[in-house]
Order: sequence, then structure tokens, then C-alpha cells
Amino acid sequence: MVRHTGGCHCGAVRFEVQAPARIEVTECDCSICSKTGYLHLIVPKSRFKLLSGEDVLSTYEFNTRTARHLFCSVCGIKSFYVPRSHPDGFSVNARCLDEGTVEAMSVKALDGKNWERSHPGGRGKPLEE
Ligand SMILES: [Zn+2]
Repeated sequence: MVRHTGGCHCGAVRFEVQAPARIEVTECDCSICSKTGYLHLIVPKSRFKLLSGEDVLSTYEFNTRTARHLFCSVCGIKSFYVPRSHPDGFSVNARCLDEGTVEAMSVKALDGKNWERSHPGGRGKPLEE
């Protein structure tokens, strides 16, 4: 495990996250992830720490309102949030990590758009909504 740091564009939101140096991230094609270009690095709550910006974070919720989409109210960047798939953890946007600590990144595709259809009976959960 290494300590990665990251944050939003304007610098108001800053966080640190414990994760491997070689990370595996998920690219989801659901309605919101495809528009934000989000790359998910999922970690348990205990491995994420918000360093600053709690006061500028805004929350956006839709559909089942399980996911809490957090974004910086100053610059609009969604650098991390609480996903529907992992309400007890965080999804960090790998695109918002600082340079220097990520040695390698492999991207795995997730079919979030067709999740309900391709997972009848609710095996697993999509990242969003
Ligand atoms: Zn910002």
C-alpha cells in the first residue's frame, strides 16, 4: 500500500487514499459516469481521508438516491464520492490523483448502463444511481 493524494481542480478539496502503487480502476458506461469520464478506484472507508474541502462539497442524488455524488461547488470537479455499489466505502476518481505515486493503472470496463438487464435478480449492484 502507498499513500496517494489527490483532489479537485481548484484545490479546495484534497484527500489521501491508501491503495497499491499499481491500481485497478473501473470505467462505467452508466448515465453519469460516461458524462463525467470518471475512473473508479474503490476503497473501504478506512483507507480514505478527506484533508480539506468538506465545506465546499455539494451533493447530487438521483434515481434510487443511494449513491451520493459529491462535487466541488467552486470548480465542479467530482474527485470522489460514495457509490451505490459500496455505500460503506468511497470511489476515488483516478483521474484526480496527483502524479508521482501511481506506477501503473489497468482499466476494467463495467456495463453500468445495462446493469439491471444483464444482472436479473440483482446480483451485485451498479456503481451509480
Ligand atoms: Zn474545486
